[in-house]
Amino acid sequence: MSTTFPPLALPTRLLHGPGPSPVAPSVLEALAKPCIGHMDPEFMRVMNEVRAMMQAVFRTENEMTLACSGTGSAGAEMLMDNLVEPGDTCLIGVNGVFGGRLAEKAGRAGGVVETMELDWGLAFDQDALIAKIEETKPKLVAVVHAETSTGVLQPFDRLGEAVHKHGGLLVMDCVTSFAGAPVEIDAWGVDAAYSGTQKCLSCPPGLAPVTLSERAMHKVNNRATKVNSWYLDLTLVGNYWSGSRAYHHTAPVNMNYALHEALRLVLEEGLEERFARHEAAHQQLKAGLLQRGFKFASDPEHSLPMLNLVSVPESIFNEAAARKQLLTENNLEIGGGLGALAGKCWRIGLMGHGARSENVGAILTALDSLG
Ligand SMILES: *Cc1c(COP(=O)(O)O)cnc(C)c1O
Repeated sequence: MSTTFPPLALPTRLLHGPGPSPVAPSVLEALAKPCIGHMDPEFMRVMNEVRAMMQAVFRTENEMTLACSGTGSAGAEMLMDNLVEPGDTCLIGVNGVFGGRLAEKAGRAGGVVETMELDWGLAFDQDALIAKIEETKPKLVAVVHAETSTGVLQPFDRLGEAVHKHGGLLVMDCVTSFAGAPVEIDAWGVDAAYSGTQKCLSCPPGLAPVTLSERAMHKVNNRATKVNSWYLDLTLVGNYWSGSRAYHHTAPVNMNYALHEALRLVLEEGLEERFARHEAAHQQLKAGLLQRGFKFASDPEHSLPMLNLVSVPESIFNEAAARKQLLTENNLEIGGGLGALAGKCWRIGLMGHGARSENVGAILTALDSLG
Protein backbone atom coordinates (compact mmCIF):
# COMPACT_ATOMS: atom_id res chain seq x y z
CA MET A 1 0.00 0.00 0.00
CA SER A 2 1.24 3.46 -0.91
CA THR A 3 2.19 5.71 1.98
CA THR A 4 1.69 8.96 0.14
CA PHE A 5 -1.82 10.34 0.09
CA PRO A 6 -3.46 13.50 -1.19
CA PRO A 7 -4.60 16.02 1.43
CA LEU A 8 -7.83 15.05 3.16
CA ALA A 9 -11.01 15.60 1.20
CA LEU A 10 -14.20 15.09 3.18
CA PRO A 11 -17.91 15.39 2.45
CA THR A 12 -20.00 17.93 4.32
CA ARG A 13 -22.54 15.88 6.22
CA LEU A 14 -25.74 16.94 7.87
CA LEU A 15 -25.04 15.57 11.35
CA HIS A 16 -28.34 14.52 12.87
CA GLY A 17 -27.43 11.43 14.80
CA PRO A 18 -26.59 11.25 18.52
CA GLY A 19 -23.45 13.37 17.97
CA PRO A 20 -21.19 14.72 16.72
CA SER A 21 -23.47 17.58 15.81
CA PRO A 22 -22.96 20.29 13.16
CA VAL A 23 -20.03 22.52 14.11
CA ALA A 24 -20.41 26.27 13.72
CA PRO A 25 -17.93 27.80 11.24
CA SER A 26 -16.44 30.11 13.88
CA VAL A 27 -15.69 27.08 16.07
CA LEU A 28 -13.74 25.48 13.22
CA GLU A 29 -11.90 28.79 12.75
CA ALA A 30 -11.01 28.85 16.45
CA LEU A 31 -9.53 25.34 16.12
CA ALA A 32 -7.24 26.61 13.37
CA LYS A 33 -5.72 29.45 15.43
CA PRO A 34 -1.99 29.23 16.23
CA CYS A 35 -1.10 26.63 18.81
CA ILE A 36 0.59 28.16 21.85
CA GLY A 37 2.13 26.48 24.88
CA HIS A 38 -0.07 24.89 27.51
CA MET A 39 1.82 26.92 30.19
CA ASP A 40 1.69 30.20 28.26
CA PRO A 41 -0.02 32.95 30.29
CA GLU A 42 -2.22 33.61 27.26
CA PHE A 43 -3.41 30.00 27.37
CA MET A 44 -4.06 30.35 31.13
CA ARG A 45 -6.33 33.23 30.20
CA VAL A 46 -8.15 31.00 27.69
CA MET A 47 -8.58 28.35 30.41
CA ASN A 48 -9.93 30.90 32.89
CA GLU A 49 -12.47 32.12 30.36
CA VAL A 50 -13.45 28.56 29.40
CA ARG A 51 -14.00 27.80 33.08
CA ALA A 52 -16.08 30.94 33.66
CA MET A 53 -18.26 30.12 30.65
CA MET A 54 -18.66 26.47 31.68
CA GLN A 55 -19.76 27.64 35.14
CA ALA A 56 -22.40 29.83 33.49
CA VAL A 57 -23.74 26.97 31.35
CA PHE A 58 -23.66 24.49 34.26
CA ARG A 59 -25.37 27.20 36.35
CA THR A 60 -22.87 26.69 39.14
CA GLU A 61 -20.40 28.55 41.29
CA ASN A 62 -18.20 25.45 41.62
CA GLU A 63 -14.54 26.44 41.58
CA MET A 64 -13.62 22.93 40.38
CA THR A 65 -15.01 23.28 36.86
CA LEU A 66 -12.70 22.22 34.05
CA ALA A 67 -12.45 20.70 30.60
CA CYS A 68 -11.26 17.12 31.06
CA SER A 69 -9.05 15.86 28.21
CA GLY A 70 -10.97 13.23 26.27
CA THR A 71 -14.58 12.79 25.26
CA GLY A 72 -17.63 12.55 27.53
CA SER A 73 -16.64 9.04 28.61
CA ALA A 74 -13.37 10.42 30.02
CA GLY A 75 -15.42 12.89 32.06
CA ALA A 76 -17.56 10.02 33.39
CA GLU A 77 -14.46 8.06 34.28
CA MET A 78 -12.84 11.07 35.95
CA LEU A 79 -15.83 11.41 38.27
CA MET A 80 -16.19 7.71 39.04
CA ASP A 81 -12.45 7.16 39.57
CA ASN A 82 -12.17 10.14 41.90
CA LEU A 83 -15.45 9.89 43.81
CA VAL A 84 -15.66 6.13 44.35
CA GLU A 85 -13.31 4.41 46.77
CA PRO A 86 -13.10 0.63 47.07
CA GLY A 87 -16.07 -0.59 49.07
CA ASP A 88 -18.22 2.52 48.60
CA THR A 89 -21.89 1.76 48.02
CA CYS A 90 -23.18 3.19 44.73
CA LEU A 91 -26.72 3.36 43.41
CA ILE A 92 -26.91 3.79 39.64
CA GLY A 93 -30.07 4.35 37.61
CA VAL A 94 -30.02 2.21 34.49
CA ASN A 95 -32.67 2.87 31.85
CA GLY A 96 -30.40 2.89 28.82
CA VAL A 97 -26.87 2.38 27.58
CA PHE A 98 -25.23 5.26 29.41
CA GLY A 99 -26.60 4.37 32.85
CA GLY A 100 -25.17 0.90 32.27
CA ARG A 101 -21.78 2.39 31.53
CA LEU A 102 -21.87 4.42 34.75
CA ALA A 103 -22.54 1.23 36.70
CA GLU A 104 -19.60 -0.43 34.94
CA LYS A 105 -17.29 2.49 35.72
CA ALA A 106 -18.35 2.67 39.38
CA GLY A 107 -17.69 -1.08 39.67
CA ARG A 108 -14.26 -0.78 38.08
CA ALA A 109 -13.42 1.98 40.57
CA GLY A 110 -14.09 -0.54 43.34
CA GLY A 111 -17.63 0.52 44.22
CA VAL A 112 -20.20 -1.92 45.55
CA VAL A 113 -22.79 -1.22 42.89
CA GLU A 114 -26.51 -1.60 43.07
CA THR A 115 -28.49 -0.67 39.97
CA MET A 116 -32.06 0.47 39.75
CA GLU A 117 -33.39 -0.71 36.41
CA LEU A 118 -36.27 0.57 34.31
CA ASP A 119 -37.62 -0.21 30.86
CA TRP A 120 -35.72 1.60 28.15
CA GLY A 121 -37.65 4.63 26.93
CA LEU A 122 -39.03 5.53 30.37
CA ALA A 123 -37.86 8.09 32.93
CA PHE A 124 -37.48 7.25 36.62
CA ASP A 125 -40.17 8.53 38.95
CA GLN A 126 -38.18 10.72 41.36
CA ASP A 127 -40.21 9.39 44.29
CA ALA A 128 -39.18 5.84 43.42
CA LEU A 129 -35.52 6.87 43.26
CA ILE A 130 -35.84 8.76 46.54
CA ALA A 131 -37.44 5.75 48.25
CA LYS A 132 -34.55 3.58 47.09
CA ILE A 133 -32.02 6.17 48.30
CA GLU A 134 -33.70 6.29 51.74
CA GLU A 135 -33.66 2.52 51.92
CA THR A 136 -30.06 1.93 50.87
CA LYS A 137 -28.34 5.21 51.88
CA PRO A 138 -25.66 4.93 49.19
CA LYS A 139 -22.46 6.96 49.28
CA LEU A 140 -22.90 7.85 45.62
CA VAL A 141 -25.95 8.07 43.39
CA ALA A 142 -25.49 8.50 39.64
CA VAL A 143 -28.27 9.12 37.14
CA VAL A 144 -28.27 10.11 33.47
CA HIS A 145 -30.09 13.38 32.80
CA ALA A 146 -30.52 12.93 29.03
CA GLU A 147 -30.35 9.26 27.96
CA THR A 148 -29.17 9.51 24.37
CA SER A 149 -29.82 5.84 23.77
CA THR A 150 -33.54 6.22 24.48
CA GLY A 151 -34.39 9.90 23.98
CA VAL A 152 -35.50 10.38 27.60
CA LEU A 153 -35.11 13.45 29.83
CA GLN A 154 -34.87 12.54 33.50
CA PRO A 155 -36.43 14.89 36.10
CA PHE A 156 -33.63 15.70 38.56
CA ASP A 157 -34.59 18.62 40.76
CA ARG A 158 -35.48 16.64 43.93
CA LEU A 159 -32.69 14.08 44.01
CA GLY A 160 -29.94 16.21 45.59
CA GLU A 161 -31.77 16.75 48.85
CA ALA A 162 -32.52 13.04 49.25
CA VAL A 163 -28.94 12.02 48.55
CA HIS A 164 -27.44 14.64 50.87
CA LYS A 165 -29.69 13.66 53.77
CA HIS A 166 -27.56 10.55 54.18
CA GLY A 167 -24.24 12.21 53.38
CA GLY A 168 -24.05 10.87 49.83
CA LEU A 169 -22.97 12.50 46.57
CA LEU A 170 -25.14 12.98 43.49
CA VAL A 171 -23.54 12.53 40.07
CA MET A 172 -25.19 13.52 36.81
CA ASP A 173 -24.45 12.62 33.19
CA CYS A 174 -25.52 15.72 31.27
CA VAL A 175 -23.56 14.95 28.12
CA THR A 176 -26.54 15.47 25.83
CA SER A 177 -28.59 18.00 27.81
CA PHE A 178 -25.74 20.51 28.47
CA ALA A 179 -26.37 23.67 26.42
CA GLY A 180 -29.59 22.21 24.95
CA ALA A 181 -31.94 21.96 27.94
CA PRO A 182 -31.86 23.39 31.49
CA VAL A 183 -29.07 21.90 33.62
CA GLU A 184 -29.11 23.42 37.12
CA ILE A 185 -26.12 22.07 39.00
CA ASP A 186 -26.42 24.29 42.08
CA ALA A 187 -30.21 24.59 42.26
CA TRP A 188 -30.68 20.82 41.97
CA GLY A 189 -27.89 20.00 44.43
CA VAL A 190 -25.83 18.01 41.92
CA ASP A 191 -22.36 17.33 43.35
CA ALA A 192 -20.61 16.33 40.17
CA ALA A 193 -21.53 16.38 36.50
CA TYR A 194 -19.88 15.76 33.16
CA SER A 195 -20.69 16.58 29.56
CA GLY A 196 -19.02 16.38 26.16
CA THR A 197 -18.25 18.87 23.44
CA GLN A 198 -19.87 17.22 20.42
CA LYS A 199 -23.55 17.24 21.42
CA CYS A 200 -25.47 20.46 22.05
CA LEU A 201 -22.28 22.51 22.33
CA SER A 202 -21.71 21.91 18.62
CA CYS A 203 -17.97 21.57 18.97
CA PRO A 204 -15.88 18.66 17.66
CA PRO A 205 -15.44 15.74 20.08
CA GLY A 206 -12.42 15.84 22.36
CA LEU A 207 -13.13 17.52 25.70
CA ALA A 208 -15.46 16.84 28.60
CA PRO A 209 -16.75 19.79 30.65
CA VAL A 210 -16.75 18.63 34.27
CA THR A 211 -17.85 20.31 37.50
CA LEU A 212 -17.57 19.25 41.15
CA SER A 213 -19.02 20.82 44.29
CA GLU A 214 -16.99 21.53 47.42
CA ARG A 215 -18.68 18.54 49.01
CA ALA A 216 -17.46 16.34 46.15
CA MET A 217 -13.94 17.81 46.34
CA HIS A 218 -13.90 17.16 50.08
CA LYS A 219 -14.37 13.48 49.26
CA VAL A 220 -11.61 13.60 46.62
CA ASN A 221 -9.17 15.37 48.94
CA ASN A 222 -9.82 13.02 51.87
CA ARG A 223 -9.56 9.66 50.15
CA ALA A 224 -7.81 6.90 52.05
CA THR A 225 -6.57 5.44 48.77
CA LYS A 226 -4.98 7.01 45.72
CA VAL A 227 -7.12 7.49 42.63
CA ASN A 228 -6.45 4.53 40.35
CA SER A 229 -6.07 6.65 37.23
CA TRP A 230 -3.06 8.96 37.25
CA TYR A 231 -4.23 10.80 34.12
CA LEU A 232 -7.66 11.63 35.53
CA ASP A 233 -6.65 12.26 39.16
CA LEU A 234 -8.41 15.49 40.11
CA THR A 235 -5.89 16.37 42.81
CA LEU A 236 -3.35 16.63 39.96
CA VAL A 237 -5.48 17.88 37.03
CA GLY A 238 -7.26 20.29 39.35
CA ASN A 239 -3.96 21.95 40.26
CA TYR A 240 -3.31 22.69 36.63
CA TRP A 241 -6.76 24.22 36.06
CA SER A 242 -6.72 26.25 39.25
CA GLY A 243 -4.38 26.40 42.21
CA SER A 244 -0.66 26.01 41.55
CA ARG A 245 -1.01 25.69 37.74
CA ALA A 246 1.56 22.91 37.86
CA TYR A 247 2.10 20.96 34.64
CA HIS A 248 0.31 17.64 34.72
CA HIS A 249 -0.35 16.64 31.11
CA THR A 250 -0.32 18.77 27.98
CA ALA A 251 -3.76 20.31 27.58
CA PRO A 252 -5.32 19.82 24.12
CA VAL A 253 -4.67 23.49 23.38
CA ASN A 254 -6.62 24.00 20.16
CA MET A 255 -9.58 21.96 21.39
CA ASN A 256 -9.81 24.43 24.25
CA TYR A 257 -9.95 27.25 21.70
CA ALA A 258 -12.84 25.47 19.99
CA LEU A 259 -14.63 24.95 23.30
CA HIS A 260 -14.06 28.62 24.13
CA GLU A 261 -15.78 29.70 20.92
CA ALA A 262 -18.59 27.14 21.28
CA LEU A 263 -19.34 28.33 24.83
CA ARG A 264 -19.09 31.94 23.72
CA LEU A 265 -21.75 31.29 21.08
CA VAL A 266 -24.00 29.57 23.63
CA LEU A 267 -23.86 32.53 26.02
CA GLU A 268 -24.14 35.10 23.25
CA GLU A 269 -27.36 33.40 22.11
CA GLY A 270 -28.58 33.12 25.71
CA LEU A 271 -29.37 29.88 27.52
CA GLU A 272 -33.15 30.34 27.55
CA GLU A 273 -33.18 31.26 23.87
CA ARG A 274 -31.05 28.27 23.02
CA PHE A 275 -33.30 25.87 24.99
CA ALA A 276 -36.34 27.37 23.27
CA ARG A 277 -34.70 26.91 19.86
CA HIS A 278 -34.05 23.22 20.61
CA GLU A 279 -37.66 22.79 21.73
CA ALA A 280 -39.04 24.55 18.64
CA ALA A 281 -36.95 22.42 16.26
CA HIS A 282 -38.09 19.30 18.13
CA GLN A 283 -41.76 20.26 17.85
CA GLN A 284 -41.36 20.94 14.14
CA LEU A 285 -39.62 17.62 13.53
CA LYS A 286 -42.13 15.75 15.69
CA ALA A 287 -45.08 17.19 13.76
CA GLY A 288 -43.45 16.28 10.44
CA LEU A 289 -42.61 12.76 11.58
CA LEU A 290 -46.07 12.07 13.02
CA GLN A 291 -47.63 13.35 9.79
CA ARG A 292 -45.52 10.80 7.91
CA GLY A 293 -46.67 7.94 10.15
CA PHE A 294 -43.54 7.66 12.30
CA LYS A 295 -44.09 6.54 15.89
CA PHE A 296 -42.08 7.90 18.80
CA ALA A 297 -40.62 5.16 20.98
CA SER A 298 -39.86 7.14 24.15
CA ASP A 299 -42.26 8.30 26.84
CA PRO A 300 -43.91 11.42 25.36
CA GLU A 301 -44.01 13.04 28.81
CA HIS A 302 -40.21 12.91 29.04
CA SER A 303 -38.99 13.22 25.45
CA LEU A 304 -35.65 14.87 24.81
CA PRO A 305 -35.86 17.82 22.44
CA MET A 306 -32.37 17.18 21.06
CA LEU A 307 -32.68 13.45 20.44
CA ASN A 308 -35.77 11.90 18.89
CA LEU A 309 -36.24 8.16 19.28
CA VAL A 310 -38.59 6.75 16.64
CA SER A 311 -39.46 3.19 15.64
CA VAL A 312 -38.12 2.15 12.25
CA PRO A 313 -41.15 2.33 9.88
CA GLU A 314 -42.55 -1.06 8.90
CA SER A 315 -42.10 -0.17 5.23
CA ILE A 316 -38.31 -0.24 5.72
CA PHE A 317 -37.03 -3.80 5.40
CA ASN A 318 -33.37 -3.08 5.97
CA GLU A 319 -32.89 -0.18 8.35
CA ALA A 320 -29.09 -0.16 8.10
CA ALA A 321 -29.30 0.06 4.30
CA ALA A 322 -31.82 2.89 4.57
CA ARG A 323 -29.49 4.86 6.86
CA LYS A 324 -26.64 4.21 4.47
CA GLN A 325 -28.74 5.55 1.61
CA LEU A 326 -29.52 8.70 3.60
CA LEU A 327 -25.80 9.15 4.21
CA THR A 328 -24.54 8.57 0.69
CA GLU A 329 -27.41 10.14 -1.28
CA ASN A 330 -28.51 12.93 1.07
CA ASN A 331 -25.34 13.44 3.12
CA LEU A 332 -27.60 12.96 6.14
CA GLU A 333 -26.42 11.06 9.18
CA ILE A 334 -29.03 9.79 11.62
CA GLY A 335 -28.37 7.29 14.39
CA GLY A 336 -29.37 3.66 14.60
CA GLY A 337 -30.63 2.11 17.81
CA LEU A 338 -28.14 1.34 20.57
CA GLY A 339 -28.03 -1.78 22.69
CA ALA A 340 -31.46 -3.33 23.13
CA LEU A 341 -32.92 -0.94 20.55
CA ALA A 342 -30.47 -1.81 17.74
CA GLY A 343 -32.32 -2.55 14.50
CA LYS A 344 -35.62 -1.37 15.98
CA CYS A 345 -35.25 2.37 16.38
CA TRP A 346 -33.69 5.40 14.79
CA ARG A 347 -32.29 8.30 16.73
CA ILE A 348 -32.63 11.68 15.08
CA GLY A 349 -30.57 14.38 16.72
CA LEU A 350 -31.29 18.11 16.70
CA MET A 351 -28.30 19.32 18.61
CA GLY A 352 -26.75 22.75 18.94
CA HIS A 353 -26.16 24.38 15.60
CA GLY A 354 -28.33 21.68 13.97
CA ALA A 355 -31.49 22.55 15.92
CA ARG A 356 -32.87 24.80 13.20
CA SER A 357 -35.90 24.90 10.99
CA GLU A 358 -33.91 24.47 7.77
CA ASN A 359 -32.22 21.37 9.17
CA VAL A 360 -35.59 19.88 10.11
CA GLY A 361 -36.77 20.54 6.55
CA ALA A 362 -33.71 18.78 5.11
CA ILE A 363 -34.23 15.77 7.39
CA LEU A 364 -37.90 15.39 6.39
CA THR A 365 -37.08 15.79 2.68
CA ALA A 366 -34.38 13.13 2.94
CA LEU A 367 -36.71 10.73 4.78
CA ASP A 368 -39.34 11.28 2.05
CA SER A 369 -36.79 10.18 -0.54
CA LEU A 370 -36.63 6.73 1.10
CA GLY A 371 -40.05 6.09 -0.44
C1 LIG B 1 -22.40 10.66 24.00
C2 LIG B 1 -22.73 10.30 25.42
C3 LIG B 1 -21.76 9.82 26.32
C4 LIG B 1 -20.38 9.47 25.93
O1 LIG B 1 -19.67 10.45 25.36
P1 LIG B 1 -18.45 10.16 24.37
O2 LIG B 1 -18.17 11.55 23.94
O3 LIG B 1 -18.95 9.28 23.27
O4 LIG B 1 -17.36 9.56 25.14
C5 LIG B 1 -22.14 9.61 27.62
N1 LIG B 1 -23.39 9.80 28.03
C6 LIG B 1 -24.35 10.23 27.21
C7 LIG B 1 -25.73 10.43 27.71
C8 LIG B 1 -24.05 10.48 25.87
O5 LIG B 1 -24.99 10.91 25.03
